[in-house]
Amino acid sequence: MKRIYADHNATTPLAAEVLEAMLPYLREHYGNASSIHCEGRQARAAIDDARTRLARLLGAEESEIIFTSGGTESDNAAIVGVPAGHLITSAIEHHAVLHACQHRHDCEVTCLPVDRDCRVDPDDLRRAIRPDTRLVSIMWANNETGTVQPIKELAAICRERAVPFHTDAVQAFGKLPVNVQDGRVDLLSLSAHKFCGPKGVGALYLRRGVKLRPLLVGGSHENERRAGTENVAGIVGLVAAAERATAKREAESARLYQLSERLAVGIQQTIPGAHRNGHPRWRAPNTVNFSFAGCTFEGLLLGLDLEGIAASSGSACAVGSLKPSHVLQAMGVPADLARAAVRFSLGADNTEGDVDRIVEALAGLVRRLRAFGG
Ligand code: PLP
Repeated sequence: MKRIYADHNATTPLAAEVLEAMLPYLREHYGNASSIHCEGRQARAAIDDARTRLARLLGAEESEIIFTSGGTESDNAAIVGVPAGHLITSAIEHHAVLHACQHRHDCEVTCLPVDRDCRVDPDDLRRAIRPDTRLVSIMWANNETGTVQPIKELAAICRERAVPFHTDAVQAFGKLPVNVQDGRVDLLSLSAHKFCGPKGVGALYLRRGVKLRPLLVGGSHENERRAGTENVAGIVGLVAAAERATAKREAESARLYQLSERLAVGIQQTIPGAHRNGHPRWRAPNTVNFSFAGCTFEGLLLGLDLEGIAASSGSACAVGSLKPSHVLQAMGVPADLARAAVRFSLGADNTEGDVDRIVEALAGLVRRLRAFGG
């Protein structure tokens, strides 16, 4: 039987046309973009072109794009690079943000709470900003629940108070319209492997005029803002994937929203004691998260895997840690339900038939797990 991959927030398959775009830069155009000879200039031209195209997609200027090794580095760079003082973030951020904040021993950090639907209250942000606040970092869409934050409102508050606003848009790009002019964000993180691009490459948008100390030092790459020989094929792949995702976004997001609603309704109608986690409407179109009282996420995930279904307990990085998700805890989900949560994140290859099979398999599995104590 066909396996069903429903873990697209962990990573996505590389699109065939993205691989095609990358191959020449892995084979014949292998030059180092810092070299002045022809091979080097070819690599440089590919990066320049990629920068122009990504800037256009984001509503940015070319000079405002820094290529990185992925979402983690972009988040780290944004947080580690600001001057000492006060930082504001939220309790449901990815660990790439939360742990970077913890590393700022020279900063006081305010962690904003979220409501039971995983949303930050803009009034909490208004109250938290101080004269010495150096950065506010609040994610666009949450990786575990899919909940989308009121980004425009949060960004507007920061703008009014002249505080740089960073958003981790790793789970938003390709699913929601992400444009730095609409949202008026100052820094924004992207990761290619979340939208059918290659792993290990990402970007940080840095608004002109916002000062950031580089995280990586060494050579003068990326205009002295990120040292290290550029991953030319990765950068070409990131931009090919970004253009592809943007072109498909509206139609694909509408399809995925319907598909994930079908999944949510199916679960609610078939499985008693299923608790939905996250905002039912303000969410990434592909993500639903449920807790099943009387079960454990290990039992659920292993059981689903045996049925040919790949899902997740939330953040891929948290698997093995056995800790209940910090996101669900921040939402006030009781610990037993937080330990019984499964995230389904759908993607291009999923169909109505897949969703119906997930509901059927899950219903049987939850019944069996409850009978055997989780
Ligand atoms: N931020 C969010 C919201 C994520 O979901 C992830 C990946 O799971 C990251 C950051 C880290 O991105 P990367 O895997 O490119 O380091």
